[in-house]
Amino acid sequence: MPVYRDDVVAWIKAVGEMIAENSSYLTELDSAIGDADHGANMERGFKAVLNKLPEISDKDIGTIFKTVGMTLLSTVGGAGGPLYGTWFLQAGMKTAGKMELTLADWTEALEASLSGVVMRGKAELGDKTMVDALTPAVNALKQAIQENQPINAALELSADSAKKGMEGTIPLVARKGRASYLGERSAGHQDPGATSTYLMLKVAAETWKKSI
Ligand code: ADP
Ligand code: MG
Repeated sequence: MPVYRDDVVAWIKAVGEMIAENSSYLTELDSAIGDADHGANMERGFKAVLNKLPEISDKDIGTIFKTVGMTLLSTVGGAGGPLYGTWFLQAGMKTAGKMELTLADWTEALEASLSGVVMRGKAELGDKTMVDALTPAVNALKQAIQENQPINAALELSADSAKKGMEGTIPLVARKGRASYLGERSAGHQDPGATSTYLMLKVAAETWKKSI
């Protein structure tokens, strides 16, 4: 079964709620190696997204993702805003006109998001950023497709891989973003952006497994 447009809307809504619940946690992580605003940034962005959602929830998935991206770009600021904005804009480009997503569609969309984030932020794997959670998540989806895994299992594998990637940021020394200003002192802390990325993918697996 595919992920329908209404499932995508439900995911975005659930992400908004998850971000609001985890705002202090994300800000706490950012206070250790950044400027203590990641939770507040994301909360502001997704609050604006949730306000826009009723207007766009009858549109195609591409339009929904693009609107989320534009809203995040214009409200979040910092590094996270443009990066998450790009993430959703790229996903929106890949899903233009679609009313449902197969596992292959979702994988392509997330792969485009990753490419967009990398092009914009120039982070490589191991630089202690959201790329360290998103890359293994995309790889897990691709592998699941090759293994003919059902979509539910694939989504869970991608969330699990993002979690491992997020945990893997703890010992790393940051080479991109504000955390890189700390040099060696950034080691020993989990990256906030990798954490929000994992949480978003976890919510996708949880939300979509109820309907597919
Ligand atoms: P800011 O760093 O401007 O305060 P946020 O606190 O909202 O922005 O987001 C910080 C997160 O952004 C980091 O934890 C990291 O995951 C991500 N990030 C920062 N710079 C980059 C980059 N160049 N490429 C990818 N991700 C990045
Ligand atoms: Mg910050």
